[in-house]
Amino acid sequence: MSQTIAVIRGDGIGPEIVESVLRVLDALQVGLTYEFVEAGVAAHQHVGELLPQATIDAILRHKVALKGPLMTPVGGGFSSLNVELRKRFDLYANVRPAITFPGTKARYEDIDIITVRENTEGAYGSEGQTLSDDGEVAQSLIRNTRRGCERIVRYAFDLASKQKRRKVTAVHKANIMKTTSGLFLNVARNVAREYPDIAFNEMIVDNTCMQLVMNPHQFDVIVTTNLFGDIISDLCAGLVGGLGLAPGANIGSEVAIFEAVHGSAPDIAGKGVANPCALLLGAAQMLSHLGLEDEARRVRAAIRETLAARDRLTPDLGGSGNTAGFTDALIAHLKN
Ligand code: ATP
Repeated sequence: MSQTIAVIRGDGIGPEIVESVLRVLDALQVGLTYEFVEAGVAAHQHVGELLPQATIDAILRHKVALKGPLMTPVGGGFSSLNVELRKRFDLYANVRPAITFPGTKARYEDIDIITVRENTEGAYGSEGQTLSDDGEVAQSLIRNTRRGCERIVRYAFDLASKQKRRKVTAVHKANIMKTTSGLFLNVARNVAREYPDIAFNEMIVDNTCMQLVMNPHQFDVIVTTNLFGDIISDLCAGLVGGLGLAPGANIGSEVAIFEAVHGSAPDIAGKGVANPCALLLGAAQMLSHLGLEDEARRVRAAIRETLAARDRLTPDLGGSGNTAGFTDALIAHLKN
């Protein structure tokens, strides 16, 4: 196969971890080629814009992008570049896998949970935010749409079906937020009927948090609205040892962007010690998205083996290695 992807090296440790990930992707020899484009501080320095049109065009052209972490400078015109990208390409599904890897600070063995978070509306959308003149009353609007709920729930069930998963749990607060969360829950129940082979479960968000901590193995795919998904996906990352191994995909009907959840880590940028695993797991999601399921599995297996062997690990993983050596180790552990 031959597929070009747009690659944004990003800010801080971005270029270091992107280089590492591309070396692993090249070692898979699946015919991926790259068009490098800029966004964030790097783009601002070169062309005076945080999100240049050339970058937008390249993402639209190739439909798939791999993105290093971006820094949004204060006063740059965007409140968050990541939020801007989501809006620009209508990336309605934020997909965050949480998988246990050996030798990490995971709280439990064998966790494999995917959180599918609605990415464009709901309470996180922060629409209609106002603060009264006297500063005493603040409010904002929560807006969910049937279309928004339907497409995210359908995405979650389709993903479950594609990956042969057994259960989808819809997380809500419909007992209190009867209209907004109620709409989401009703839609979820209706969509679930279209997928008789996948078990459907519904759970109130506060109970979900407790259940995730006490008995996480009951979960498989979680689907939820924007703000709940923001919180739950980090909770799941905590269950498997934090953000060091947390990837994310932002998926729309046209375009998909794959990334690490962590930021640009300016404190270690340029030192050559960044851990590339979160972005590499994002690249594995990208491979699945491109239909390269075997290669995605090979990448995850290589990470698992490298961590189990504690082979040339970076300092955040308790090793004394560097990014380049760790990447060599990951490539050495790639199996067919
Ligand atoms: P930003 O403002 O871009 O989110 P931040 O420093 O607030 O940056 P992170 O970039 O997520 O937030 O970093 C939090 C901590 O985790 C930092 O100490 C950073 O060095 C560390 N860290 C984040 N990503 C990595 C990584 N890939 N490898 C090693 N350490 C990391």
